[in-house]
Amino acid sequence: VAEDRPHRVFVAGHRGMVGSALLRRLQDENDVETITCDRADLDLTRQSQVEQFFGDTRIDQVYLAAARVGGILANDTWPADFIRDNLLIQTHVIDAAHRAGVERLLFLGSSCIYPRLAEQPIREEALLTGPLEATNDAYAVAKIAGLKSCEAYHRQHGADFRSVMPTNLYGPGDNFDPETSHVLPALLRRFDEAAADGRESVRVWGSGRPRREFLHVDDLADACLCVMRADAGTFWSGLPERASHINIGVGEDIGIAELAQRIADLAGYRGSIEFDPSKPDGTPRKLLDVARIRALGWRHRISLEQGLRATLEWMRENIEGGV
Ligand code: GDP
Repeated sequence: VAEDRPHRVFVAGHRGMVGSALLRRLQDENDVETITCDRADLDLTRQSQVEQFFGDTRIDQVYLAAARVGGILANDTWPADFIRDNLLIQTHVIDAAHRAGVERLLFLGSSCIYPRLAEQPIREEALLTGPLEATNDAYAVAKIAGLKSCEAYHRQHGADFRSVMPTNLYGPGDNFDPETSHVLPALLRRFDEAAADGRESVRVWGSGRPRREFLHVDDLADACLCVMRADAGTFWSGLPERASHINIGVGEDIGIAELAQRIADLAGYRGSIEFDPSKPDGTPRKLLDVARIRALGWRHRISLEQGLRATLEWMRENIEGGV
């Protein structure tokens, strides 16, 4: 990129939680011009539309944050939709970006790419060393294909296409639907409504024993810019060829039962907490090793306490049927 003009940066998936956080973060940068395209005008699952868009638009960098995402039950219920849409979107965008000569691309993956029983905290090298968690293996295989695509285009074509694997995310713009959301927004909403209605019992899915790591999406956006801005020479020379993706997390996890208790306290709920064993637990533990991203000079800033408060407030102001 010539230094005398701004980077033209395409955010794919700008209506989603991650894409909108990336847009907010990118708008603080004065050498960046952001490009977005609404789904009505550009359906990323349609190859011809993606090719035409990249053919018609000058783009220097791409953040590939477009994906079909959902919580444990959504993934378990609609695996075909998850594998199909994600494979299509990422394959079309990665290939069209390469053909159009995009200088750099960042693919957003997920920590569910790792084996169900990976050693904790999970290092990037744990990829493909064991069987996946069954509740979201379709989504995970698509995400693995995405990061492998970036590696393959780098190896074969020298494309500077990078991948990050964020831990469980939350924040403004999250999905708060009781059935399809992830655990943190689901519990914020359930406990807030229960507190407002003065209910005496709230159900939490599974045994409460699984452990998860939670990262605020604004911290993720900051980490993405950090990875995207790393100088190409140093970046690639420091990474192994077959595990070139970078984990993004906070380096700490929490049990679901404790998370539920903290959310209950925050929402002012005083009743009992029951566990629902008819719902799946999923992976017992998912904590990322964050040494690589820390070595690039990044560290999260938003504590779980601050993030929960801010997201509860956001939900109360923005979600229909929220309290
Ligand atoms: P996962 O990290 O892919 O398993 O995604 P989730 O965020 O959907 O679930 C994380 C853990 O929270 C699992 O053990 C769920 O059983 C548990 N959990 C407890 N209550 C809920 C809830 O209301 N919704 C969801 N999605 N998960 C819940």
